[in-house]
Amino acid sequence: MTARGPAVIVGASLAGATAALALRRHGWDEPIVLIGEEAALPYERPQLSKAYLAGQREARHLLVAPEQRFADNDIELVLGHPVTELHPAEHRITVGGRERPYGVLVLCTGAAARRPGFPGATLPGVHLLRTLADADRLRAEVSPGTRVVVVGTGLVGSEVAATLNRLGADVVAVDPFPTPLYRLVPTAVGEMLAGLHGDRGVRLRPGRTVREIVGGRRVEAVVLDDGERLPAQVVVAGLGAVPNAGLAVSAGLEVGAGIRTDEFGRTGAADVYAAGDVVEQFVPHRGRHERVEHWKYAIQQAGAVAATIAGTPTPLDESPWFWTDQYDVHLEVAGWPDAGAPTVVDGAVGRAGEPGEFLARTVTAGRVRAVTGVGRGRELRALGRRLAGGVFHEETDEMRGSAWISD
Ligand SMILES: Cc1cc2nc3c(=O)[nH]c(=O)nc-3n(C[C@H](O)[C@H](O)[C@H](O)COP(=O)(O)OP(=O)(O)OC[C@H]3O[C@@H](n4cnc5c(N)ncnc54)[C@H](O)[C@@H]3O)c2cc1C
Repeated sequence: MTARGPAVIVGASLAGATAALALRRHGWDEPIVLIGEEAALPYERPQLSKAYLAGQREARHLLVAPEQRFADNDIELVLGHPVTELHPAEHRITVGGRERPYGVLVLCTGAAARRPGFPGATLPGVHLLRTLADADRLRAEVSPGTRVVVVGTGLVGSEVAATLNRLGADVVAVDPFPTPLYRLVPTAVGEMLAGLHGDRGVRLRPGRTVREIVGGRRVEAVVLDDGERLPAQVVVAGLGAVPNAGLAVSAGLEVGAGIRTDEFGRTGAADVYAAGDVVEQFVPHRGRHERVEHWKYAIQQAGAVAATIAGTPTPLDESPWFWTDQYDVHLEVAGWPDAGAPTVVDGAVGRAGEPGEFLARTVTAGRVRAVTGVGRGRELRALGRRLAGGVFHEETDEMRGSAWISD
C-alpha cells in the first residue's frame, strides 16, 4: 500500500468505530484517528429505547468495542470534541481549535433527533432520544404512574411507548398516521401493533397532530389539533432524525437527503468518504440514491468504505434490514418498504395482544420489494439477502396458497 497519510474518521459511533477497526483489518498501516463529539466511548444506540431505557442493560454493554481494542489496533481516540471545519482542497480539518491534516477522511457524523417545531417544545420535561445522555435524562423522569405523551409512533416513538408502559408509566402516543410504523410496515402489521399497544394499555391517538405543549416551569399538557388536552409530566418527541451534514455543506460537498456518495462511499471530494446515517448513497439495484438509518446498514457501509480505502474497491448494493422490539414482539423488516403497496401474507399477522408468526411480502410490479415478519427470522433474512438481485413473487415457493391481504 502506498503512503497516503493518516485516515481521520469524524464521528465516533457505530459507523466511525466500525470503519476504524475495519481499516486495520484490511491492512491499513498509516495512522488512524477517530474523532467524536460525544465524550463517551463509541456505543450502539438501538438499546437506548429498549433494554437500556428499561434499566435492564448497562452502558458498558452498549460499546461498539472495548476501549482496549482501539489501543490494540493503534487507533487514536479524540473524544468530546466536534470537528468544526473541513477544507477538502487542503486535506485538513479543525478539531478543538487545532488543525489536523488527513490523507483520507471518512465522515460518519450520523444524525440528530428532529426537534419539534410546535409551541412549548422547549419546556423542561420535553425529551428527544438519540444519545445515552438523552436516555438517562428520560429514564430519571419516569416512574410508575408518570403521565407520558409520546409524539410520533415511528421506530423510536413506538419502542419508547412500549418500554415506558412496561415501566408502569401512563402512556398516550400521538401520530398523524393511522397506524404505528406506518411508513415501515404493511398496514395489517401496523394494525396488529396498534392492537398490541392498546392491549397493553397505551392509548393511541392516530390521525392527530400536536397543536402545542403547555406548562409553567415544566410541561403540563399536550394539546392536539382537535382540541383534546392530554395531561403530561413527560413528553417524548420521536419525530425522526436529521443528518448531521453541516460540516459537509460548509465544505461544499454535495448533500441531498444526506451526504451524497457513490456505491463505494466516495463523496465528490478527493479522499473524502462517508458512511452511516449521514449518507445518501447511490444504490445500484435501486438506480438512485437512498438514505438508510439502520444499524446493520451503517456497519455494512463502514465496512465497504474501509475496504475501498485500503485498496479493495467494494461497492455496497444490499437491501437494508432492521428489527424492532416492542413488548414481547421481535419484528424484522428487510428491503424497501412502500406504505400502502400490495402485500401477500404467509402465516397469521395476529390480533391485539396475540401477534402471530408470519412473513408479509410487499409486492410491486410482480417483484418482492420488502418482507416483514415475526417469528420467521431465518427465512426473512434469507429472502432479504436476495432482494437486491430482484425476486419475482412467484419464485417464492412458500407463497403459493398465501392470502393477499391488500391490493
Ligand atoms: C433510540 C434509537 C433506537 C434505534 N433502534 C434501532 C433498531 O432497533 N434497529 C436498527 O436497525 N436501527 C436502530 N437505530 C438506528 C441506529 O442506531 C443507527 O442507524 C446508527 O446509530 C447509525 O450509526 P452512525 O454511526 O451512522 O450515526 P450515529 O449513531 O448518529 O453517530 C454519529 C456520531 O457522530 C458524532 N458527530 C456528529 N457531528 C460530529 C462532528 N462535527 N465532529 C465529531 N463528531 C460528530 C455524533 O455525536 C455521534 O456520536 C436506533 C437509533 C436510535 C437513536
